[in-house]
Amino acid sequence: MNDLQAAGEGNLRIGEPEAAAVGIPGVAVSVRYAFSEMGPARSVQTLLKVNQADGFDCPSCAWGDPAVRQRKHAEFCENGAKAVAWEATRKRADAGFFAGHPVAFLREQTDHWLESNGRLTEPMYLAQDATHYVPLSWDEALKLVGARLRSLPDPNRAVFYTSGRASNEAAFAYQLLARRLGTNNLPDCSNMCHESSGAALSQTIGIGKGQVTLEDISQHAALIVIVGQNPGTNHPRMLSSLEEAKQRGAKIVAVNPLPEAGLIRFKNPQKARGIAGRGTRLADRFLPVRVNGDLALFAGLNRILLERDDAAPGTALDHAFIGKYTDGFDQAAAAWRALDWTRIETLSGLSRARLEELADDVIAADSVVVCWAMGLTQHKNAVETIREVMNFLLLRGNIGRPGAGPCPVRGHSNVQGDRTMGIYEKMPDSFLDALRDEFGFDPPRGHGWDTVDSIRAMRDGKVDVFFALGGNFAAAAPDTLVTAAALARCQLTVHVATKLNRSHLMCGREALILPCLGRTERDVRGGGEQYVTVEDSMSVVHASRGLLPPASPGLRSEVAIVTGLAQEMFGEDVGWRAMGEDYSVIRSHIARVVPGCEDYSARSSQPGGFVLPRPPHDSRTFRTSTGKARFTVNEVTAICVPPGHLLLQTIRSHDQFNTTVYGLDDRYRGVHGGRRVVFVSAEDLAGLGFADGDVVDLVSVWSDGERRAPAFRVTEYPTPAGCAAAYFPEANVLVPLDSTADISNTPTSKSVVIRLERPRART
Ligand code: SF4
Repeated sequence: MNDLQAAGEGNLRIGEPEAAAVGIPGVAVSVRYAFSEMGPARSVQTLLKVNQADGFDCPSCAWGDPAVRQRKHAEFCENGAKAVAWEATRKRADAGFFAGHPVAFLREQTDHWLESNGRLTEPMYLAQDATHYVPLSWDEALKLVGARLRSLPDPNRAVFYTSGRASNEAAFAYQLLARRLGTNNLPDCSNMCHESSGAALSQTIGIGKGQVTLEDISQHAALIVIVGQNPGTNHPRMLSSLEEAKQRGAKIVAVNPLPEAGLIRFKNPQKARGIAGRGTRLADRFLPVRVNGDLALFAGLNRILLERDDAAPGTALDHAFIGKYTDGFDQAAAAWRALDWTRIETLSGLSRARLEELADDVIAADSVVVCWAMGLTQHKNAVETIREVMNFLLLRGNIGRPGAGPCPVRGHSNVQGDRTMGIYEKMPDSFLDALRDEFGFDPPRGHGWDTVDSIRAMRDGKVDVFFALGGNFAAAAPDTLVTAAALARCQLTVHVATKLNRSHLMCGREALILPCLGRTERDVRGGGEQYVTVEDSMSVVHASRGLLPPASPGLRSEVAIVTGLAQEMFGEDVGWRAMGEDYSVIRSHIARVVPGCEDYSARSSQPGGFVLPRPPHDSRTFRTSTGKARFTVNEVTAICVPPGHLLLQTIRSHDQFNTTVYGLDDRYRGVHGGRRVVFVSAEDLAGLGFADGDVVDLVSVWSDGERRAPAFRVTEYPTPAGCAAAYFPEANVLVPLDSTADISNTPTSKSVVIRLERPRART
């Protein structure tokens, strides 16, 4: 048995990468997947309702929905179908399952296997030193958690984590519970993904959210720059918007270390050309930037635009916009003039000539949208990089007009909504004041811990209770072994979840799983059938209504769990029962506490919902410290990689959403039947003395020592010299906890210094 087989990867095989996304295979995989989990009837029932105005919101990514009248009958993508099927599966992981599987066995299983056992059916409890999870009644479960929380010597010995799937109503009630207890320890998955975007955008334009609409991309932008994002896998319906843009003559530039199929060509299965033809070519220009080379790229590009304007004033820069709406231009310009081109070319991995060509595209375009994702946000210099992207947009006034602006594309369906509802460890006093005025208690004012600080606190024994509203914290977090040990130092870990996952096994001395309803399921409470609301990447808030009967009578909604626990802890001090019985009560609170949410229930329940204020987009209003959009000076840095080492980015496969692994294929990259692969260029393999097919350990190097991820198949792949890629969560063990982005404290999962090493002899 070789190392890969020993790692459970005996079926791994590598084929040719695809040159086009979706097409017939996309439809076939969606149907096969849906039918295998849900059966034909349930598949049709659910898939015809996902992303529809009277249906439920896709529980996967946060790409926006077209206007209601433009929605297709099949308003979902392959990964949306997988997400729905994964949640609405007929499989059940019930008490019998847990009785038959000791925790020690479960810990040995893959993430895919754990979740593939189906939906949880009732609360499950793992007592201290017990070998098995056992059922617990809801009353007992909420009493247990309530007692642990109320007996804390300090409310800051509790941490309340939120995954981006939680609805706005659940998120609002949850932050209220934590603050009623007395803590701002409200880390969320955004800390690990777009926190760097929020920090950079807040500094430069006064709001931490994207400033474009779907129509800006599909109907108006002359040039769309997609950087550090793989929409074909992570936001697939975006390809439809890009296709529309192409068909009206827009240009697309893709900037990525990997030539992703979803950036090259789209075979839209809802169009004849996508079924029988070659589909639509997407990127007109592909720039294979070096991992972590984006700051150098944009700084170099901005210098070129400056010099072009020096040569022909007013042809490259929008001086009227700069003069009226911005400050800091002169300092930024001076920094660009001082840049060293050799350094720019080395750090970006791109020649000046290629950046000149990009500048030609930019100057030819009267409106530009820049879309990005984790490829920009999970680096030490991520905030500086995104600020430099904003410099690029401000130079030509590409904000606050049709077809122009920044578009950080959120990964999780309601991660932006949760933040809007107060899920943030550093909420402003204005929000906390509104909470005080609404509920009659003074919330804590001291900033809480974000995700990385929460892990540090758990590691250092400062946390007794870790509570997670959804998600798979232990798998999503960096430094897997350190995080697991940190969680194990907690007295109690509690997970609200739909399915069994790694975090339920990397747990505290006691552990509790509280099974909740999913988005696809009807939620009937005392006040009748309930709906919830979510917010997408374009700041559109809309309703989501489930249609299926609950997977088990033993499930409760997220809202019912949170308000039930709060009742257990605080009685009826702020009206928890009413909030739990009728979510419009929560929405009335939201309307009075959350800025821009006036008349929330009425506006969110109308077909298509409503758009939250976007001052820069709506009126070129910049609520920064100076009231202007801010140019910034960003020192051009990049990670230095010692000889014999590579810079690794962690990525998703096409059969994955965040840490949820739907299957073992990544057909766009030619990977089938396994996940322990590391993508490296032919040039580097030759230089390092390895070959395609070798099995290696990945070893990361950090100031506190080395971290090892064993048994990865070396896969030759087109990527710039010095770069590598491997899937998370398998590669998260390599990301040091203390390796975080400046300012945002986001783990640097996209730039980890590693070396390949022949596997050690197995004992
Ligand atoms: S693009 Fe995202 S939100 Fe839309 S169906 Fe696909 S996974 Fe779901």
